[in-house]
Amino acid sequence: MDCIEFLNAVLKNAKYPQKKYVEAVQLGYDSVFFDEEDYVFYVGFNLGSSPLIRKEEGFLNDNDLAILNQSTSCEKNAIEYERLKNWILSTPHLILTYKRFVKSESFSPSLLIEDMRLEVISDSKISFGYAKLEDELRLVGLYDLYLKYGQWHQDLEKYGINGAKYKNYDHSYKPVPLDTLKKHFEAKPLRLAYSNVKLYFACPFSYFADRILGLNEFKPQMAARMGTFSHAVLEDSYTADFNFLESVEKHKLENAIEHRDEFFFDQMTEVLRNLLEFNHLHEQMSQLKEVEREAHIEIVKESYTFEGYIDKLMYTIKNGEVYAAIVDYKTGADKVSLDNIEDGFHLQLPSYMYLLSKYPPFTGLKLHIIGLYLQKVNIVIFDQKSDIETQMTKNFMLEGYSVANPEILSMLDPTYEKSTYIKSLAVGKAGFYKYSKVFLENQQEEIITMVDGLLDEASTGIHQGIFPIEPKKINSKNVSCTFCKYKDICFYEYEDLKELVYKPFGNGGDGHGMD
Ligand code: SF4
Repeated sequence: MDCIEFLNAVLKNAKYPQKKYVEAVQLGYDSVFFDEEDYVFYVGFNLGSSPLIRKEEGFLNDNDLAILNQSTSCEKNAIEYERLKNWILSTPHLILTYKRFVKSESFSPSLLIEDMRLEVISDSKISFGYAKLEDELRLVGLYDLYLKYGQWHQDLEKYGINGAKYKNYDHSYKPVPLDTLKKHFEAKPLRLAYSNVKLYFACPFSYFADRILGLNEFKPQMAARMGTFSHAVLEDSYTADFNFLESVEKHKLENAIEHRDEFFFDQMTEVLRNLLEFNHLHEQMSQLKEVEREAHIEIVKESYTFEGYIDKLMYTIKNGEVYAAIVDYKTGADKVSLDNIEDGFHLQLPSYMYLLSKYPPFTGLKLHIIGLYLQKVNIVIFDQKSDIETQMTKNFMLEGYSVANPEILSMLDPTYEKSTYIKSLAVGKAGFYKYSKVFLENQQEEIITMVDGLLDEASTGIHQGIFPIEPKKINSKNVSCTFCKYKDICFYEYEDLKELVYKPFGNGGDGHGMD
């Protein structure tokens, strides 16, 4: 009795010589006769397919076939039923398996099981010892249940998990060979835009999944179609012969393709009508009378091209110097910030600044960027706190950063001291209020140089295949994974998170709205 524990331990770890078979597994059919030494595994022993049920088909129906003395589908089914029954009885070592579900569809087992009184063994009763890998998978599954829910299973007691690999899945990114990447970029030279540079810095692996593997299947959902619709009407609004209703009808026809779209597109039409009024009012006060819409700017570098579209570029040229403001229409809920731009975060507005600095019509002219803004184009849900007009106006106000130079800023917004055009912009006795989002004139060049460096850095990393799973954490908050579509494939772990120091934008001190 003393030896039992010892022998159990020895036998659990005992290794047996394994016989290697050549072509051990072969495909067969239920019309083949097998030898006594064969083991036969029949897959899909389900109602409808085992035996295969025939229906009336062809030119002649069962009545016609009976008249012509031919086999009807019923007779053929009965023959097939008997044939399969005999085959089962005559096949040695036969294991029949049936499927129960495929996705949401359920399946029934073959009627022959009941008819022949075949023994049904549930998978929990299948004994161990047939396949090492399957045994290990089952045992680690049981072990997992034990660790997570405290459910102990006797098979764990009996077999243990021994050397089975538990929780040692290696999810780290295995670099793509440089040759392969080189060929990829030869066939498709690297094109960067703000959105994919943002992905790269947030987590290089998400860029890899999205842009290199191309896992991002683009489906224009209603929100995206409504965005396209709004952008198109706003773009039209600056043409000389603009007619609001005609423009709305034209673009609605192209984008409101589903029945339920109608309601939301009608709501958005009202938003656009009011937004245009709001913009018109402020544009009349502004000195930036030139307006470019959807300005496409492309910067070609040796190893990549960076491009972007500026939804609305307002500018004027005075004494050979350009004064410009950028507005990007947003149909989502983007947060306006320039914090941690050094780490590649919040690059949208800075990348517009960069693009504008290379805009061909401004070449050779001194550029003064007055402001970089987002303008929300959303259906507004009103509350009771203030009147509808106030709420709507508040929603339309530009959100972003303005130059901290009153003289220049007033060219865009004469109301800047208590702005009715730009959100949170106000001036007190000590200068711009602390909550006003402003940048100093000399920061324009700094930001442009920083974006240039970050784009080069992203391009180098991408060309060298540096795509680790490396989400970022700022102020102990994961700022990369929340809306990432690749959570299901990266299996990131806590250790993968890279902590970044919080770097708030600006250093101008009091009176510049920067802290
Ligand atoms: S879920 Fe997080 S770690 Fe995974 S790919 Fe996305 S950003 Fe990276």
